[in-house]
Amino acid sequence: MSGPTTSSQRVRSAQRPSARRQKRETREEKSVRANAAAARLAQLYPEVECPLIHRNTFELLIAVILSAQCTDAAVNKATPALFRRFPDPISLSWASTVEIEPLIRTLGLYRAKAKSLQRCAQQLVEEFNGEVPATMEQLTRLAGVGRKTANVILGHAFDIPGIAVDTHCKRLSRRLGLTRQLDPTKIEQDLSRILPASEWTGFSHRLIIHGRQVCFARKPACEKCALGELCPSNTVRNGKK
Ligand code: SF4
Repeated sequence: MSGPTTSSQRVRSAQRPSARRQKRETREEKSVRANAAAARLAQLYPEVECPLIHRNTFELLIAVILSAQCTDAAVNKATPALFRRFPDPISLSWASTVEIEPLIRTLGLYRAKAKSLQRCAQQLVEEFNGEVPATMEQLTRLAGVGRKTANVILGHAFDIPGIAVDTHCKRLSRRLGLTRQLDPTKIEQDLSRILPASEWTGFSHRLIIHGRQVCFARKPACEKCALGELCPSNTVRNGKK
């Protein structure tokens, strides 16, 4: 007579792609696989430091707003001069967009971003006493801040679990079969149901790193991917290479 299923049996079962394809994966099985993927990613990328250079939460907020649709490296080049000129919410709230724009001209969408920075700084001063708020509801009221940005701030500045769904997190979550959704908020909900809160910040950031280094958008490097056994989209195992 077979006894209760152990967690290692569940992981092994979760790794069997043929078994997964034969019947729809249950949420528990998906959760076991997601946690196994989270553990492997944590071994691969133990540190999840924010790549955006900042000295305080205000600078982190501004840097994350600026990082929309451009690289972290480009943001890190622009922010030292920006923060020298406008070191706090008050100075930035007094600035005109004409003063801000030249400092961020190298970044995409710099005109719209200059407006967002100015408005965001004004909101920080007027509504939050010059402090960056620490809740999703308050953060997403700020100009230029959506759920992804808010989750980065919550995770890195306040140690509050959050799943930051950017283009990499979205692509990898779908390839790993952890969600079928396209909408970032729904992806966030799906991942939050199958992973404990303690994994949220780390898992989403590690998916971003893995997406940049291995699971590329156009041609994922499945042959050297540490998640291969757990991934239904593995092109090597699926005979696409
Ligand atoms: S096995 Fe391939 S598709 Fe799956 S996560 Fe790894 S690189 Fe991406």
